[in-house]
Amino acid sequence: MMNIVKKTGTINTTSLKGRKIEWIVIHYTAGTTSKAGSALDLAAYYLSGKAAASSDFIVDDTAVVQYNGDIANRYTWGVGGSKYTSMSTPEGGRYYGKCKNSSCINIEVCSNKTNKKSLLASDTDWYFTDAEIELTVRLTRQLMEQYGIDAEHVIMHHHVTGKVCPNPWTVTPDRLSGWQDFQRRISAVNDTASAAEKSSDKLYCVQVGAFADRSNADKMLAEVKKKYPQAFISVK
Ligand SMILES: [Zn+2]
Repeated sequence: MMNIVKKTGTINTTSLKGRKIEWIVIHYTAGTTSKAGSALDLAAYYLSGKAAASSDFIVDDTAVVQYNGDIANRYTWGVGGSKYTSMSTPEGGRYYGKCKNSSCINIEVCSNKTNKKSLLASDTDWYFTDAEIELTVRLTRQLMEQYGIDAEHVIMHHHVTGKVCPNPWTVTPDRLSGWQDFQRRISAVNDTASAAEKSSDKLYCVQVGAFADRSNADKMLAEVKKKYPQAFISVK
């Protein structure tokens, strides 16, 4: 398991007991740096109440910060709002009306900017570093396993409302290659990061069942959770 720094709060979040989590959504912060401390700074900004939005996790070059301390029973505000009228890529708005704040986990990735004098959403010099993408891949894979979410349900904010978010992967159609690369990495069976994790940090899991039908797995989970609330479904 990866190290996650907790700086949690409930400001700009909504309580929903036992919510159904079906999606993981990737965003960019529209900040100008992803250096160490950037993710904690954003969590502090959420806590100040000045932000109009929130996310479950924030990733920078060195850390994964968790803002939502009760993901199973509370959701953050990342994908709400109406659909954009024009889209920067053909993938824009594909899951509008399907993915909602109440059914997703939001991950904000701290962005960087080459020319910090212009901060337009249409600028083409916002970018991510390799270090933070590596952390985001590891976090996403962990959440996919924890909540039983497949790669098709890992999407961008752009897929929901059509917003240019994350900008580095959606500002123009050719930038979708960055997203496709991310998709490949979260889908890879023998990813180097997960292989390294396995060798350095063994996990001995207790399995109580295996089902071809998701609803049967959900029923078993509900039973097991009565005694072990931390139980979860993993997809193999
Ligand atoms: Zn976004």
